[in-house]
Amino acid sequence: MELNFAYFDHPEKYSPLSEEEETCDFCGQEKLCFDASFFYSVEDNDFICPECLAGGKLIGREIFTCDGDIDELKRQLSVLHPEWSTEMIDADAERKTIALEKTTPHLITWQDWSWPAADGDYCRFIGYGSREKYAALSPGANGKELFENSLYYTVDEDTDADELWEDLLPEDDIADYNESAEMPVLFYVFRSLHSDRIVTVWDSN
Ligand SMILES: [Zn+2]
Repeated sequence: MELNFAYFDHPEKYSPLSEEEETCDFCGQEKLCFDASFFYSVEDNDFICPECLAGGKLIGREIFTCDGDIDELKRQLSVLHPEWSTEMIDADAERKTIALEKTTPHLITWQDWSWPAADGDYCRFIGYGSREKYAALSPGANGKELFENSLYYTVDEDTDADELWEDLLPEDDIADYNESAEMPVLFYVFRSLHSDRIVTVWDSN
């Protein structure tokens, strides 16, 4: 099954579906489903099928699959569109935040952090970071430089990018969620929807 989500690349690898068919709590059908128990919610849900998630079944309910960095998104929008009123910026940010938080598969992370924004929209998660990954993302150029420039502002302050690259960044590609679960430190790689800009967040257990 081909699953397409704007803010999440290859969910079949990084936000895996159940191994057996389960009852989707939102349409009642027996399907391969995402685990909805990871979502931020006061409701008690076990499973949601990809069609219900993509189709917006969470919209209007107190359920969120992630937490968008809406303040940074608004800041970017105001820089990109100085002619926009505060109301226009708020409305655009709100629309994108609903799409992100309500129709995006859940990314399992060690710590809670906000989903990064770039170029006036939320970024697309494209996999876990490794030296191999950054080299592949910068053909003919320097993977280390790309990595250092990609650190999101939230993780850019107290960390020495050189040390991260040398000491913590894995050498080899991390293929999927199962492999990531064995890593005590993880780098999460995102791409802008509107440019080639790469954004990295990292955390540890
Ligand atoms: Zn469903």
